This record gives sequence, C-alpha cells and structure tokens, in this order.
Amino acid sequence: MSHHITFVGAGPGAADLITVRGQKALQNAQVVLFDALIDDGLLAYCAPDVVLVDVGKRCSKNTAKPQDEISALLIEHGLKYARTVRLKGGDPSIFGRLDEELAAAKQAGLTVEVVPGVTAALAAAAAAQTPLTRRGVTRSIRILTATVGAAQPHNDWDAALDPSETMVFYMAGKQLREIGLRLLLAGFSAQTPTLIVRGASWSNQDCVRLTLQGLPDYVLSNSDAPTILMVGLALN
Ligand code: SAH
Repeated sequence: MSHHITFVGAGPGAADLITVRGQKALQNAQVVLFDALIDDGLLAYCAPDVVLVDVGKRCSKNTAKPQDEISALLIEHGLKYARTVRLKGGDPSIFGRLDEELAAAKQAGLTVEVVPGVTAALAAAAAAQTPLTRRGVTRSIRILTATVGAAQPHNDWDAALDPSETMVFYMAGKQLREIGLRLLLAGFSAQTPTLIVRGASWSNQDCVRLTLQGLPDYVLSNSDAPTILMVGLALN
C-alpha cells in the first residue's frame, strides 16, 4: 500500500465545524501534524495510539517553525507511516502554504488528497450573523491580506477595491490602522461599514462593528485570538 497524506481543513476552531470526511481521516490517521490554533477537541477524534506532531507556527511567537522545516517533518512522517494527516486551520487552500507542502509530498512519491474546511471568512460571517452578499448591493467577495511575509514582494492589496464588494482581510489584527488609512486615502466613504471578528466559533468569539472612520484608531484588547476584518456595504 502506498503512503498517503490527507490534508484536512480543520475549520475555524470549534471541533464540530470540521467536515465528516475530515473527521474520518483523523480517526484513521497513524500520525497527525497540526497547526497552532487547532482545538484539542479535534485531536480527540484521533485513535488513542496516534502520533501527534505540533508544527504550530504563529507569526507573533519566537517559537515559529520555518515552512521548510514543516515540509521536512511532513515528508519524514509521510514516509514512515501509511496514513498521515496534515491538519490545517480553516481551509487548507487559503493562506495555508498548501502549494509548498503538496509539492514536497509529491516529490517524495507520496499520494495526496485535500479535504476542504470552513474558512475563517465564513465562520466570521456566521459569528456576526451577517451575510457577505446582499441583493442589489454586493455580489462579490474578496479574500485578501495586507500582511506581507519577510522577503516577499510588495503587496498591492489596495489596488482596485470597491465598497460594493465585501473585502475580507485575513491576518488583520496588526493591520487595522494601515488598512483603515489606506482605504480612506483611496476615497472610501468614512461611513463605510466595517466588522472585526476575533476567534470566530471559539467560546470567546467577539464581533465589533465600526465605520471606516473609526478603524484607524481602534485599539484591540490584547489577546491571542486570530482576527478577521471585513469592509463593505453588505455589512450595513
Ligand atoms: N487557512 C485559514 C487561514 C490561515 S491564515 C482559513 O482558511 O481560515 C490565519 C488567519 O486566519 C488569521 O490571522 C485570521 O485572520 C484568520 N482566522 C483563522 N481562524 C480564525 C477565527 N477562528 N476567527 C477569526 N479569524 C480567524
């Protein structure tokens, strides 16, 4: 039997927001490599003798593992065990560096499968009970980030934005001021609605509604919760 890696979207946090297929993959896995922000309730789906490997990587922590180290660990375990799960927060295909891990796995001769997950944008919309589209107002959604990794090319995230589109900014916790100022400078109305959602689906999830005017000076309370910022007329 060939060795197989299943990339599983864990969803936004709450253990019961994983897909049934993802949960089955966890139950069958011999080894699970998981990210930071993965709830213990998810790991509880695994077999009692599973090998758990924490490859958690959060930008704010000094303990961050570089991506090539994560890929190397993935291959090491993928070659050793027949059934490996790589559990990734939200959906694996969104800001998850899935491409790099898939390429490494394929290069090592491992077969792969990707199981989707509930991405943070959708969990945030549910937390705030706010649709991202609105009849006659908003018919498109943009997933983006203003955060640029070290040694990455300049990110033109603010090119061609429009308030009639719902913009969903990932990795937004440290960028509220920058995003607010850039959008005001680009001519967005000061009254454009914005919504900050932290820890969507977590027991302490938190939603704050502001106008664009209020965004640059809004100070987040200190917490480790991941933060989504949404901007657009649909949020009214
Ligand atoms: N692949 C993930 C995103 C990884 S990037 C997904 O599909 O959701 C990490 C960013 O996702 C965080 O900085 C934050 O902006 C967002 N995020 C992840 N979980 C979240 C949650 N429960 N609530 C709010 N934002 C979250």
